[in-house]
Amino acid sequence: PRDKPLPLSFAQQRLWFLQQLEPESAAYNMPAAVRLEGALDVAALKQTFVMLAARHETLRTTFREQGGAPEQVIAAKADIALPLTDLSALPPAQREAEARRIAAAEAARPFDLAAGPLLRARLLKLAADEHMLLVNMHHIISDGWSMSIFTREFAACYRAVAEGHDAGLPPLVLQYADFAAWQRQWLADGELDKQLAYWKEQLGGAQPVLELPADRARPPLQSGRGAVHRWVIGESMTSGVQQLCRAQGSTLFMTLLAAFQVLLHRLSGQGDIRVGVPNANRNRIETENMIGFFVNTQVMRAQVDTRQPFAHLLVQVKDAALGAQAHQDLPFEQLVEALQPERDLSHSPLFQAMFNLMQDDGAARIELPGLVLSPVTGDDGTTHFDLSLDVVERQGRLEAALSYSTDLFDPASVQRFAAYYTNLLQAVVAAPGTSVGHLPMLDADEYRLLTKDWANGEAVPTSLPLLHQSFEAQAVATPDAIALVYEDEEISYAALNVRANRLAHHLIASGIGAEARVGIRMERGPDMIVAILATLKAGGAYVPLDPNYPQERLAFMMEDASIALLLDGPVACQGQPAHNPGVAVHGAQLAYVMYTSGSTGKPKGVAMIHAAVAAHAAVARGFNSLQPHDRVLQFSTFSFDGFVEQLFPALTCGAAVVLRGPVLWDSEELYQRILRHRITAADFTTAYWFQVVQDWAVQGAREFGALRQVSIGGEAMPPEGLKAWRAAGLSHVGLLNTYGPTEAAVAAMSLDCAAYVQYRLPHPVQMPIGRALGGRAIYLLDADKNPVPIGAAGELCIGGALLARGYHGRPELTAERFIPDPFGEEGARLYRTGDLARWKIDGEIEYLGRIDHQVKIRGFRIELPEIEAALLAHPAVREAIVLVREDRPGDKRLVAYLTAQGQAPEMDNLRRHLASGLPDYMVPSAFVLLEVMPMNPNGKLDRKALPAPAYGSGEEQVAPRNDAE
Ligand code: AMP
Ligand code: MG
Repeated sequence: PRDKPLPLSFAQQRLWFLQQLEPESAAYNMPAAVRLEGALDVAALKQTFVMLAARHETLRTTFREQGGAPEQVIAAKADIALPLTDLSALPPAQREAEARRIAAAEAARPFDLAAGPLLRARLLKLAADEHMLLVNMHHIISDGWSMSIFTREFAACYRAVAEGHDAGLPPLVLQYADFAAWQRQWLADGELDKQLAYWKEQLGGAQPVLELPADRARPPLQSGRGAVHRWVIGESMTSGVQQLCRAQGSTLFMTLLAAFQVLLHRLSGQGDIRVGVPNANRNRIETENMIGFFVNTQVMRAQVDTRQPFAHLLVQVKDAALGAQAHQDLPFEQLVEALQPERDLSHSPLFQAMFNLMQDDGAARIELPGLVLSPVTGDDGTTHFDLSLDVVERQGRLEAALSYSTDLFDPASVQRFAAYYTNLLQAVVAAPGTSVGHLPMLDADEYRLLTKDWANGEAVPTSLPLLHQSFEAQAVATPDAIALVYEDEEISYAALNVRANRLAHHLIASGIGAEARVGIRMERGPDMIVAILATLKAGGAYVPLDPNYPQERLAFMMEDASIALLLDGPVACQGQPAHNPGVAVHGAQLAYVMYTSGSTGKPKGVAMIHAAVAAHAAVARGFNSLQPHDRVLQFSTFSFDGFVEQLFPALTCGAAVVLRGPVLWDSEELYQRILRHRITAADFTTAYWFQVVQDWAVQGAREFGALRQVSIGGEAMPPEGLKAWRAAGLSHVGLLNTYGPTEAAVAAMSLDCAAYVQYRLPHPVQMPIGRALGGRAIYLLDADKNPVPIGAAGELCIGGALLARGYHGRPELTAERFIPDPFGEEGARLYRTGDLARWKIDGEIEYLGRIDHQVKIRGFRIELPEIEAALLAHPAVREAIVLVREDRPGDKRLVAYLTAQGQAPEMDNLRRHLASGLPDYMVPSAFVLLEVMPMNPNGKLDRKALPAPAYGSGEEQVAPRNDAE
């Protein structure tokens, strides 16, 4: 009965809600255009629309709201207007363009679901014998299949009217509204639960969002704007794909889908790949000839195991496809409701990429009485998904199209994705037994860029004089030049060399030689520098020991490094000779062991060799353009690698090193010191620089004396720092963003910020970290050691000769992080940094974050698991999680979350417990005691659900109930 309110189908209902959210959106329009060549009978055309509207209720349907919910209303008849625009008077060259402009405007005009009609038509006259017919339906009454019905019946009706006979269309026994009512009933009768159970099992509890390498950040609301890239997969490859299908017992759909899932896996780095696939959903005879919204979407999930051959993935895809077919009646909307009731409008729910193997309906040209009808193809400029692959097989070739959200992607990126897809197909056709992780995907040109042209820094000589040798040469060349400045004390090269020589002789006499570790536990000052140089001259390796560290930690480091001797103050060695000891030292010998936080709960010692630091000193002299007249600030903490970069480049070229005192300078003190000591070059942790430069900016533009060069590094550079840099009057001072782990001899990459400073480019989301420095090769690799494509996230791996030997006394950890270099010479190694980064299209690298739980706080490198291990060692702690939170912008703090073992631990007691083994920068500033740790539906810790502690005493105690329990 049509006189009562009629329910909507589930699909219609969701679309109705979406359209209500954005009434002006044309995202759900289904525009089409056809060219009519020949003598058009306009009256017959009008009559055709009348017949179609009489036949299909959907063309007479509108939607009204009743108490917040929609219902459909079917009119007895619909007035489908057919306005005519005559373009035939325009010059021929302009007609087509004007027609397409009107078509685009018409396609983008929103529908009013309440007013209708939801089919619009418009006729454009291009010439006496040429018209363009624009038809637009709202998706709520139509779908792709419906469009074929519409075209077929349109032709039949026009023919019938023009020739004066019956259209001969089979009668429609039921209408769409009957289907909607039936669907609700059928599902309510138990089918819903049955099908839902399958899909819940198939898709699991967590619904990951596909993270494709986008060119722009995802907007909070999808705009629906899109574009298409089309290409053709030629005959020979198409037949290869078909052969593969036959050999593997799969369909073309399965093979193409599996290859698409591999592509998405490679682009995202994700293993759990979900792709939406439309299902015509016309498997009942009654619905076959209806115009209406039937198409259903199914989610095809693949769990990509890269060690398995492609053929195995194909089996998985086949199972998923057969399972989906057996459970195809569950409306997608119901699935969304069940799995992801909380909607995030920045992406489509459950899947973000779509695949469609379309039927070649052959309807390219239709002959009508006196008229030839052919489709006008074009891109309607919309898409609902991040990326959709449509393929149609036509005349032995595969015509492919990638539609993409222009919110996210540039055309060039999608063009590359298309090439990757073709390359992957080619690879699986050639060898379907290849493991998924080894399928070649990149074009040869891109591969060469990513593994050679962009990857390699400049070559550096491998056998340079070692650090102390270059220093000794300077002491001869410029004996009176100032080597060290400390407060008011100035020490010449000759004097410093003599002091170092005397101590070196003493060390040699004490048995220090190749590979012997010498602990240096001193505050910064000339004695510390003397101790370092003396150790190197003696052939030993120094181990920096920060006297401010807790005793327990220092004891561990000394023990772990098995130091042969500890220097913790000036040594009386006036009796020792003043000349260079001239010990033969080889470049492969150990120069220092530097401890950094360790994820297993104990610090690990990075064992650095002479040749690497000597080469890096040369590289750093280069990027800082150091000259003998330079005065370089030595600022970094002794126990961190920055220290090395601030000392040796200067001492190996005759420049002066200005030592900072034990107390960290505030911004004004630093400013005064730059002037007072005539500092020309300085190197800061990014965090300190950012703080200081903002203070300086408040003072307005000032003179900075002789300062000409600043390098920063240690963590991601905030682009806002550049604004402050300019405001402080520093635009003329060189600024480098350097990147590098302790394991790769300090800075391995750098970005000259000049372009960003000078040209006031629009601020990028991230400041890049630039390119490889001399002697390094930088690769961004996926878990299978493939170079990731431009734009995709990969682990930053450092090759070249400037690497540490490994972790002192930790062969397993060394083997895990220092791996064979697949792109280098025989025996070459790569250090896996654990950093995530991506290539920009210009060959610079952008830092994205960490793979693990290593963090930086105030420039200090911390493995959070080390703090957790220390907490767990406390008897009253059952579970412990430590996070870095930035609840206030720019204010990073460590927060510990705990559950108690029996009696709740005293916070003060916990703090003391941690401080006995950890340096103060590793002691959390707040502790939060929880009853239970929050879990996500997969039973994993839900880090995002950990509450922000209040600011204040640092002894916050919150005990929220865990909703998951
Ligand atoms: P460290 O061994 O103390 O030098 O720390 C090295 C780590 O600090 C790297 O692996 C990165 O995670 C981070 N890092 C260093 N420099 C930068 C930078 N310029 N931008 C982003 N992260 C950086
Ligand atoms: Mg570093």
